[in-house]
Amino acid sequence: MFYCKVHLDYMRIALSEAEKCTPVPTAFCVGCVLVHHLPESSPTIIATGYSREFPGNTHAEANALYKAKHLTSEQLSELLPNYPNISLDEVMSHTDVYTTLEPCSVRLSGLSPCVDALITAKVKRCYIGVGEPFDFVKCEGAQKLRDIGIEVVWLNELQEDCLAVARRGHN
Ligand code: ZN
Repeated sequence: MFYCKVHLDYMRIALSEAEKCTPVPTAFCVGCVLVHHLPESSPTIIATGYSREFPGNTHAEANALYKAKHLTSEQLSELLPNYPNISLDEVMSHTDVYTTLEPCSVRLSGLSPCVDALITAKVKRCYIGVGEPFDFVKCEGAQKLRDIGIEVVWLNELQEDCLAVARRGHN
């Protein structure tokens, strides 16, 4: 049960990120948390992100990855004192993603989907709060992650909360 509770706690943090989004009628409000699980260090959040945190129609997962990618080596060694010279790639290969909504696989804007960014970053696992409803496009994010070998875990306990926050500002 403890195992499960930890994941719900991280998903709640992702939900609180999603609540920071400015609602828009044409997109969802999503929150994302990146947590490393390196063996010699207790799990730590390395970055968080939410929809439209950066200018434009930016997405939570891409924003969190962007912030992780721009951690300085000083910030990384502060987060991971047992790993003084670790590369970000190494951290990412031990990182789990918690996202309130299934990562997108298609974007109407033509920007690259979050699934591609997660695959490029080579994250370990992806915990998803709720599947993307077909409000805008048909999402195949979870399937694409699985196809490439990234473990996908559906955390069904908070799906109503995740969906409610995602659709904030929609009628
Ligand atoms: Zn996305």
